[in-house]
This record gives sequence, C-alpha cells and structure tokens, in this order.
Amino acid sequence: MSRSVVVTGSTSGIGLAIATAFAEAGDNIVINGFGNADEIKAIVARLESLSKGGAIYHSADMTKPAEIADLIETAAKTFGTVDVLVNNAGIQHVEKIEDFPTEKWDQIIAINLSSSFHTMRAAIPLMKARKHGRIINIASAHGLVASPFKSAYVAAKHGILGLTKTAALELAEFGVTVNAICPGYVLTPLVEKQIPDTAKARGMTEEQVKSEVILKAQPTREFVKAEEIGALSLYLASDAARQVTGTHISIDGGWTAA
Ligand code: NAD
Repeated sequence: MSRSVVVTGSTSGIGLAIATAFAEAGDNIVINGFGNADEIKAIVARLESLSKGGAIYHSADMTKPAEIADLIETAAKTFGTVDVLVNNAGIQHVEKIEDFPTEKWDQIIAINLSSSFHTMRAAIPLMKARKHGRIINIASAHGLVASPFKSAYVAAKHGILGLTKTAALELAEFGVTVNAICPGYVLTPLVEKQIPDTAKARGMTEEQVKSEVILKAQPTREFVKAEEIGALSLYLASDAARQVTGTHISIDGGWTAA
C-alpha cells in the first residue's frame, strides 16, 4: 500500500531526491519549498508518473507555524494520514559571528530547527493514533562538528539532534521511530551558493574553497550524492529499521571519523 510521505524543502537538492526515492517506491508524496510555479508543476507531474500513488505541492513557508500546521493537515486530508515525515528544509549563511545579521540567525533557527518541531507537533498525533510512523530529520555533519563562520547553521543542526532524541523517547512505545541523517557535502544549490561567501570569509579563491575546504573535510574526496540520502531515507522508513530510533546516521565520506 502507498504510504503518505511529507518532505519539507523538496523543490530542490536533497529533498527532491528523497521525494523521488519515495515516489519510485510507489508512495504518495507531498512536496514543499520555494521555486518557479511551472517548475514545481513539472516536479509534481514527474513524481506522479514515477509513483503508484499521487503527488501534491504545498507552499508552506517553514518560518510560519500556521502554514506548517496546514501542510500536515492537507497531507492527512489528501492521503489519509502522514506515515513518513522528512524534515529537510534548510538554508545557510556564512559570516563571522560579530557581523552575522540578527535576522539571518532568527531565520536559520526557524527554518533549520523550529520548523521540525512544528511539523512533528502536528504529525505526531496522527502517527500515535495509528501506532506507526517514521520521522527523519535531515541534520548534517555540522550537527556533530563545527566549522567557523556557520554559527546559526551549526547551532540549529546540533539542536535538531537533541530534538530527534527527545521525540524518539516520547514515541518509542507507539511504533514511531525518529532519526537524523547527517550528510557531508552534497553539491546542491545550498552548497554552490556558499562558495563565494566562504571564499570571502577565508580570503581564498572559489576553487581553493572547493578543494581545500569542502572536499578536504571528506576523506573520500568526493561529494555525497543526493540520491544516496534518498536511499538511506527509504531504509529508515522501512520495517527493517523498526528498532533504529533516537540516533543519527552519518553519510559524510568519513568526515566525522577524523
Ligand atoms: P537546497 O537549497 O537545494 O534545498 C533547500 C530546500 O528548502 C529548497 O526546496 C527550498 O525551496 C526549501 N526552503 C528554503 N527555505 C524554505 C522555507 N522558508 N520554507 C519552505 N521551504 C524552504 O539545499 P540542500 O542542500 O538540498 O539542503 C537540504 C537539507 O540538507 C538542508 O536541511 C541542509 O541543511 C541539509 N544538508 C545539506 C548538505 C549539503 O552539502 N548540500 C549537507 C548536510 C545537510
């Protein structure tokens, strides 16, 4: 039977790859995020053609709790419930703490951390009622270790691991697992956009940032592929992963082993 899967921030990058993986598994998909209306329509049509189930788009802004509640309600109304919730929406800003704009701090904490609290708050009663559910939080290697100039991002990603563990304990007896995935660098628009700012903050060229900062962090010297995070999400959502809860899985080319 097709599951009902909500993926926040899925009009691009990792979220889109996760939505695609679940569509290929035959599930109903709710995508979310910003973007050009025609491109979003094309994504929904492609997901529908891949899946045995349906696909819809919801425009909730992850800084707005009422819109987030409506996203979960719409998913439940359209596809009967929410079986799998993937909290993926995220943004980045690279700057020294003393120059970091206060509003950027607030926005990153809202999108990268608080939005997951709001989606969970709305989805947990649905999952508890059915004694089944899967919550997957897309954290980061930056949930485990820090890098300079990414204060808000690193703080939010460390926070999401705490939220993951707390929710897992609250839901352990209800057939609902809660886990985080900690990816290393994936070449998505989020990473491409931070290369010029990192170059500026570190006084390097953009090429030096790619080779000496980004890929230097990953012993494999390769980017993680978004599709690989889709495959890991499918595993965490599977029955085989029913005893995996309250933890994180790194997919970072060895970054956090060092
Ligand atoms: P991306 O920029 O390609 O995609 C981000 C998505 O979030 C887009 O769909 C965008 O529209 C959406 N989004 C942004 N602000 C939003 C808002 N206010 N409301 C709703 N949607 C919003 O980025 P990505 O690299 O695919 O990142 C996805 C997640 O993976 C993020 O949480 C990011 O922190 C995490 N991550 C990325 C990397 C990487 O190297 N790319 C590494 C580790 C973790």
